[in-house]
Amino acid sequence: MKTQCKNQLRIAIVGAEEKKWKSEEQKTKAKNVIKTLLVKHAFTETISDLDISNTSMEPDYSTIVLITGACPKGGVDEWSIVIAKELGVDRIVYPPEIFQWNNERCCVCMGKGNIPGEGGTLYPCPSCKGKGYLRGYRERNMLIAENCDILYDIEPRKSCRYCNGTGWNNDLMKPCSKCEGDGAYSGGTWTYKYARKLGKEVHKVVI
Ligand SMILES: [Zn+2]
Ligand SMILES: [Zn+2]
Repeated sequence: MKTQCKNQLRIAIVGAEEKKWKSEEQKTKAKNVIKTLLVKHAFTETISDLDISNTSMEPDYSTIVLITGACPKGGVDEWSIVIAKELGVDRIVYPPEIFQWNNERCCVCMGKGNIPGEGGTLYPCPSCKGKGYLRGYRERNMLIAENCDILYDIEPRKSCRYCNGTGWNNDLMKPCSKCEGDGAYSGGTWTYKYARKLGKEVHKVVI
């Protein structure tokens, strides 16, 4: 992939897995949002080069790159990859290496990150790629937030399991702190809040 040193705008798209989307209409809307924002950024990043006398201006997809987490349960991650491929947008993918929230010590290298070969030479562990642990969802989400310029969290409405989608915490008598009152929450929203804490430009789209 030709992503190095090209000064591309790094656009992270995160959001809910497939089963949280309730209807085909809602899924179609989400896919349209993903496509629209990629197209939009492919124009705006070249705005200084725009030739306004040229009415056949095309978006330049080489100016942007998609940052995604490749959720194994489909949904926003999968749709983003498919749409980026269709448009010819470069992709940087941070998949989880183990399907749980926290990292786990690698049992192949016993957490050392390398394994001895013949003659005692040490080789990077192929299972954890030399890290000594397998990356869970939490670190995957942090990598996405740290490695993007702008992040979009795309969520189906009433999906927050902490407030049953009401946006309100009845026990504390104040807005739900997980979804921040809009009733929509997934691991993508966790990433959105983490990126915001890092000072990144973030947008949440509730559909
Ligand atoms: Zn290992
Ligand atoms: Zn909530």
